[in-house]
Amino acid sequence: VNSSLDTWDQSAGGTLIERKLIDWTNERIGFGPSADGVFTSGGSQSNLQALLLAREEAKSDHLADLRIFASEVSHFSVRKSAKLLGLGPDAVVSIPVDHDKRMQTLALARELERCKESGLVPMAVVATAGTTDFGSIDPLPEVAELCSQFGTWMHVDAAYGCGLLASLKNRGRIDGIERADSVTVDYHKSFFQPVSSSALLVRDVATLRHATYHAEYLNPRRMVEERIPNQVDKSLQTTRRFDALKLWMTLRVMGADGIGELFDEVCDLAARGWELLAADPRFDVVVEPSLSTLVFRVVPSGVTDPAEIDRANLYARKALFASGDAVVAGTKVGGRHYLKFTLLNPETTVDDIAAVLDLIAGHAEQYLGDSLDRAC
Ligand SMILES: *Cc1c(COP(=O)(O)O)cnc(C)c1O
Repeated sequence: VNSSLDTWDQSAGGTLIERKLIDWTNERIGFGPSADGVFTSGGSQSNLQALLLAREEAKSDHLADLRIFASEVSHFSVRKSAKLLGLGPDAVVSIPVDHDKRMQTLALARELERCKESGLVPMAVVATAGTTDFGSIDPLPEVAELCSQFGTWMHVDAAYGCGLLASLKNRGRIDGIERADSVTVDYHKSFFQPVSSSALLVRDVATLRHATYHAEYLNPRRMVEERIPNQVDKSLQTTRRFDALKLWMTLRVMGADGIGELFDEVCDLAARGWELLAADPRFDVVVEPSLSTLVFRVVPSGVTDPAEIDRANLYARKALFASGDAVVAGTKVGGRHYLKFTLLNPETTVDDIAAVLDLIAGHAEQYLGDSLDRAC
């Protein structure tokens, strides 16, 4: 079950199962019959490959002129990819977000215009469908409109939000994804698969040729004429795990609706967690969740010094980790320290969330008591 997916002769069954799941995902996205894709090691690699295709399609001889537009809360792999692809240090233009952490399309339009006026090339817009911190979904139809207006590649990073593809209730939140040129999905996030299981999907199979190289010892050119489906022809990897099998098994056992219901459940859980946080004077919560994350911090009563609030949250996070009772993630918002739950376990309950919040508040109080003692 762990044969390598690079060539047909090594992995006929694996190749067929992977291709079936790529077709299935493309159908869910709403791509037409010329769509294709390939499994990858994760969202970072999918984003890299998408931007490689976009770079080649931009057909510019001057890498330094290429620009990628992504929101200020997009995934860091966009910047990393730009560097790997040999683009200049200013290649990624950061677009501000609105109150709900969604890309401001007016600002995007302005930056695209400015790019054109300066004689630069708008290589790609990366719209995020589910930002890592906030789960926010950029306005895909408006981004698509601007991309077609400026002749720019539209990439949708749905590494986290892809679970909505299986949701009966919330699929509408990612409407517009079907207008993308490429899409990143992480089955190992919102399809609940063990790591790793991910894919890059493309609207037009022809664009995958930018990742195609032939070697006599592996995938000679004549095999293309013989219509032998060597997956290595589409992949940045050569030897590659059969990461489609677990997804195929899950879909066979649970069905897509089953996965979608689980994702809906964790999204509902986050919504209820938000209500808890919003009603609790000990906490400050950033945005109402669009998916299943909660970004918040303790605001101990009577403390107004922002640096002290930061220290209390950092302390609470470390103390909680050291206690072994729970682990909470951290991030920064507006330069300040926040805590984060990424809820991807449908077995988690609102009571679990309430219990961990009490632990966090307790550790923060402990810290403030200690710092009062130190001051005396
Ligand atoms: C997690 C994530 C990625 C990276 O995915 P990996 O599988 O960890 O490489 C990319 N984009 C977004 C929005 C993500 O949340």
